Amino acid sequence: MRLSDAPGDQIAVRCEDVVRIYSSATGDVHALKGIDAVFPVGAVTAIVGPSGSGKSSLLRLLGGLDRPSAGRVEVAGVDLAGQRPRQLRALRRRQVGFVFQRPSDNLVGYLTAAEHLQHAAAVRRCALDDPVALLDVVGLARRADHRPVQLSGGEQQRLAIAQAVVGEPRVVIADEPTAELDSDTGKRVLDLFSDVASAGTAVILATHDAIAVNAADRTLFLRHGAVQAERTRRAQALAVIDGAGRVQLPPEALALFGQRRARVRVTDDGVLLTPPDDHDEEPS
Ligand code: ADP
Repeated sequence: MRLSDAPGDQIAVRCEDVVRIYSSATGDVHALKGIDAVFPVGAVTAIVGPSGSGKSSLLRLLGGLDRPSAGRVEVAGVDLAGQRPRQLRALRRRQVGFVFQRPSDNLVGYLTAAEHLQHAAAVRRCALDDPVALLDVVGLARRADHRPVQLSGGEQQRLAIAQAVVGEPRVVIADEPTAELDSDTGKRVLDLFSDVASAGTAVILATHDAIAVNAADRTLFLRHGAVQAERTRRAQALAVIDGAGRVQLPPEALALFGQRRARVRVTDDGVLLTPPDDHDEEPS
C-alpha cells in the first residue's frame, strides 16, 4: 500500500499541492511551491533542508497556524480552508502540540513547569494525574515548581516538548527541538517523541541534527520550497513525483547530472536515468 493511499485515520496531516506565497514591499516570496506529502500517525518524520527552503513555513501550515495560498492542508481530517478562526484555534488546541524554535515562545511566564502540563491537559480535555512523572521523562522532575525565568534555555525547551505531548494529540510538531540540548537530553527527547508516535500521534520535526534524522522513521528533504526527496527506514530513498509528473531527485542523484540533462531509458524494472555522454551533446 502506498502511504498516500493509507486509510484516512492513519494519516494525521495531508498536504495536496500546497503553495505559500508571502507578499512583501519588495515583492512576492514563493516559500512553498506545491508540496504533496502525508504525515502518518505512528511515525516520526524529520523535515530537513537548507535555511530558507521552507521548513518553518511548512510546519506552520501542518500545525494549522497558517493557511496555504493555494492547495489543500488537512489536519486530523479537517480541511483548514473551510475553518473559521475560532474553529481553527479549537482544532490547534485539541489536536496539535506545537514547539516553536525559540523556547520562550512556548511558555507562559507566570505558570510553573507542572502548571504548564496541567494547563495543556485541561485544554486538550484529558487527564494528567502525575505531571511530575512526565517532567521526569524530560529530566525536569526537580523543576516542577519553577517558572520559565528560573529555567535554562534547554530546560525551557524540554518543558515545551513535554507540554506538546500531553494527552498525545493527533500531531506533535517541533521546530529544531534538539538544538539547545546536549546529546544525552537530546536522546531522551527523541525517545519520548518515538513513544508518543507509537501511541498514535504523527510527530513532525524540522531539524538540522543528524542524530534526530537518524532516529526518525522518515525524512523529507526540502529544497527551494519543494520536496526534493523522501527517505524511509526501509526504502533507501524515494524520489518525489509531483502532481504534474515532475520528479525531484535526491541530492546524491542530482549530483550526477551537472548539465541538468539525463538520458531516459524505460526498462523492464522501471526507468533508468543516466548522464548524457559527449555524443548526446552533438547537433544531429
Ligand atoms: P526555513 O525554515 O527552511 O529557513 P522559511 O519557511 O522560514 O524557511 O522561509 C522560506 C522562505 O520564505 C524564505 O525565503 C523566507 O525569507 C521567506 N519567508 C518566511 N516567512 C516570511 C514572511 N513572513 N514574509 C516574507 N517572507 C517570508
